[in-house]
Amino acid sequence: MISRTIFSSEHEAFRDTVKRFIAEHVTPHHAQWERDGQVPRSLWHKAGELGLLLCNAPTEYGGMGADFLYSAILVEEMAYVGATGPTFYLHSDIVAPYLVDFGTEEQKRKWLPRMATGEVVVALGMSEPSGGSDVQNIRTQAIRDGDQYVVNGQKVFTTNGHSADLLLLACKTDPTQKARGVSLLLVETNSPGFTRGRKLEKIGCKAQDTSELFFSDMRVPVSNLLGTEGGGFTILMTQLAQERLVQAIRAVAAAEAALQWTRAYTADRKMFGQTLADFQNTRFTLAGLHAQVMTQRVFVDRCLELHLRRELDPVDAAACKLVTTDLQFKVMDQCLQFFGGWGYMWEYPIARAFADARMCRIGGGTAEVMKQIIANSILPKAR
Ligand SMILES: Cc1cc2nc3c(=O)[nH]c(=O)nc-3n(C[C@H](O)[C@H](O)[C@H](O)COP(=O)(O)OP(=O)(O)OC[C@H]3O[C@@H](n4cnc5c(N)ncnc54)[C@H](O)[C@@H]3O)c2cc1C
Repeated sequence: MISRTIFSSEHEAFRDTVKRFIAEHVTPHHAQWERDGQVPRSLWHKAGELGLLLCNAPTEYGGMGADFLYSAILVEEMAYVGATGPTFYLHSDIVAPYLVDFGTEEQKRKWLPRMATGEVVVALGMSEPSGGSDVQNIRTQAIRDGDQYVVNGQKVFTTNGHSADLLLLACKTDPTQKARGVSLLLVETNSPGFTRGRKLEKIGCKAQDTSELFFSDMRVPVSNLLGTEGGGFTILMTQLAQERLVQAIRAVAAAEAALQWTRAYTADRKMFGQTLADFQNTRFTLAGLHAQVMTQRVFVDRCLELHLRRELDPVDAAACKLVTTDLQFKVMDQCLQFFGGWGYMWEYPIARAFADARMCRIGGGTAEVMKQIIANSILPKAR
């Protein structure tokens, strides 16, 4: 196995802390959270106490001021145990960076320290029932009225939708424009006119509270605009490389875990006077998957290195998300097969991992959107 070279001993010490946190506070409770459809706020507080939230944010705003590898470790360790409920990556590595990079001093001081402690949980509202891929054509409108915006519309598939205290909302401040009409608002979820809809029933990621959100004449102060009016689409584009890298890190770690469970299971399972691992089909299939996952591990680590130097190209990040999430699903499908009927039972981690992996080719930009981005960079633009 090719050894990894990107982590220092400080990173590995942090990994030990994360492992202990997960073993004590996550794994024993995850099945219950799946039944509840969300994780308790006490988990966010515990993670905040241990410094696991907003690792990269500057220390003056309550973060650790650490490099992105600390975030990567948290994402990996959660994926190794199949814990999809705690959506710390969305909070810390997807939403917080927008605030750090584009928030006013007042916005940063108001929100980031409380996000770091887990007192405030955030969500990102981009997707709407009419479409998630085509962000330029979102329909939720925020029309200015004096020093407030009046917001009407709805969002769907919002992770943390039920538990969030703060929503980073993509909306149209100029409905006559496409990308240039998109703005980002920081919406406090106790605002009059904000209502939460159903917690959506999903085939996987069951401990995430994925929800519908509605806005009816909801008033948001103009001071809650993130960045400039009409600058929202450009802001969203700035964080894409990191968002896709997070998904790739998770995909490879989840695939590695599935292979490990399957190696153990096939070595133990007996049939026809031998173990399942003795069959050539098992050996060749697992060897082939192992080789592919190892190759992608090297690719992801290289992207991590580039990202640490702020040199990761969004197109390369899209390629990384595309191939790792495709492989993740293939690994889950083939590994599940080795578990036979047990693989189809929810009590088995491989069943959950199979269902969870299916989302990764959709959420955060579909596989087709990733291909579109790559195609546009290597081919003349399609007519
Ligand atoms: C569990 C889960 C959690 C989510 N969490 C969030 C969240 O927190 N916040 C949020 O805003 N969204 C969230 N999403 C939504 C997710 O980002 C969208 O589902 C995704 O972007 C696709 O949008 P859509 O579902 O509307 O599909 P559509 O955009 O309608 O796409 C339908 C099909 O068309 C294809 N397609 C789209 N564009 C092209 C193209 N150019 N060329 C060819 N084919 C194309 C797509 O690949 C897909 O196969 C979540 C989704 C899930 C499942």
